[in-house]
Amino acid sequence: MGNNETEHTPEGDLTMSTIFWPFRNAPSKSDTVVDYIDTGYNVNLCQNCDKELPQDSSERGILFCSEKCQQTAKTVRYGRSTARDGRYENDATVREALDIRIVMILGGGYPETARRLTPEQREAIFVRDGRVCQLCGAPATEIDHIKGSSSSPENLQAVCRVCNMAKAKASPRLATPEEQAEVYAIFDRIRATQPTRICDDERRWDKVWRKISADQKGHRHT
Ligand SMILES: [Zn+2]
Ligand SMILES: [Zn+2]
Repeated sequence: MGNNETEHTPEGDLTMSTIFWPFRNAPSKSDTVVDYIDTGYNVNLCQNCDKELPQDSSERGILFCSEKCQQTAKTVRYGRSTARDGRYENDATVREALDIRIVMILGGGYPETARRLTPEQREAIFVRDGRVCQLCGAPATEIDHIKGSSSSPENLQAVCRVCNMAKAKASPRLATPEEQAEVYAIFDRIRATQPTRICDDERRWDKVWRKISADQKGHRHT
């Protein structure tokens, strides 16, 4: 896997791209796909953190112990695929998107389930707000939760993508030592030439997760 030593900035805000670019030993197009996946993986353990899954989760074929773990793995795969195809280096919006995902993971994971809106809820907010961004007046394409995760209409507003991204980055603060360690661990997984975990494998996960999930459903707890 190569050299894992990097000069970690001891203190910093949560804008990661400047700290972590360039990736050393980043995944590249020429890497061969290592065929280790069929040789073994753990069933009934969280694919991201190895914590034992509750029996009802594993019986249902759920692969992660929490939304946070699921999003961490998804973010690692996103980082790896964008490093591999050059988007991370060439596209500032990709770097920002990765930063925002990581900031959300540090905050305990983006509460996707709680925040999911029905098409009818979204449309009602777009209509109420005249389909313009409530922050800058540009055409609105997204719905913002103003504060927290409540999906009541008073807490929702139509915004444009740029304002939504800016808002997610708006309150930089010093990362705690625990957060820094978490960020470094995520970037180490993104930078690794070969995937550190099966769930990090951006080129094969879409194929293998179904197999793991099916095995788990058929696996008897002892
Ligand atoms: Zn986990
Ligand atoms: Zn806007």
